[in-house]
Amino acid sequence: MKAIVLFGSPGSGKGTQAKLLTQCLDVPHISTGDMLRDRIRRGVARSAVVAVMQTGALVSDEVVNGLVEERLTQPDATEGFILDGYPRTQAQADHLCRWLDGRGIREVVIYLAVDYNVVIARLTGRRQCPRCGTLYNIVSKPPREDMLCDLDGETLVIREDDRESVIRERLEAYERQTRPVLEFLHSAGRRVIEVDASTDPPDKVFQKICRAMECNDCSEDGR
Ligand SMILES: [Zn+2]
Repeated sequence: MKAIVLFGSPGSGKGTQAKLLTQCLDVPHISTGDMLRDRIRRGVARSAVVAVMQTGALVSDEVVNGLVEERLTQPDATEGFILDGYPRTQAQADHLCRWLDGRGIREVVIYLAVDYNVVIARLTGRRQCPRCGTLYNIVSKPPREDMLCDLDGETLVIREDDRESVIRERLEAYERQTRPVLEFLHSAGRRVIEVDASTDPPDKVFQKICRAMECNDCSEDGR
């Protein structure tokens, strides 16, 4: 059974790692965000859930627990799964642990951590051409002429998402929400592996994850 619970700070490349893990382990990537959006698209989510999601608030533990349980019992998840975006609260984490224990499944919790300052420096260096969409980075991929698009000469702009205060806020919000869940899992004796994803390219980060997962069986504490 290859059961992975994946956490990743904004800027950690969690989506890419989820994809690599899915390919490597041949198990489904189960993202609660995608599941909820999909249900809304298909019109099967209860209107209360839709209303909650539209305000950007969290859907109740009960609803999410139910969705995840239902998904984990699908035939494609019998050999394992990668959970992404769940658990988000201690109550959800507690629920998941009981569910896994009840089935004798030993999961591995992977947290892709980033150094705020490194990510902020990287993300805020990003500039985009408003005409053709080409991305530049003032540090690692500057345009030939200062602040002008190589392709069409348009003046590059900072995307709204990339403004430092927005990024800092997103990182802090994620940390506030995730840290207690990770601490709960750790103190409950679950295997929690923290991987630094600040600077390495995706394949290097993936190697670190693979190494950590293998080593984990022979060490008492994966951290
Ligand atoms: Zn351009």
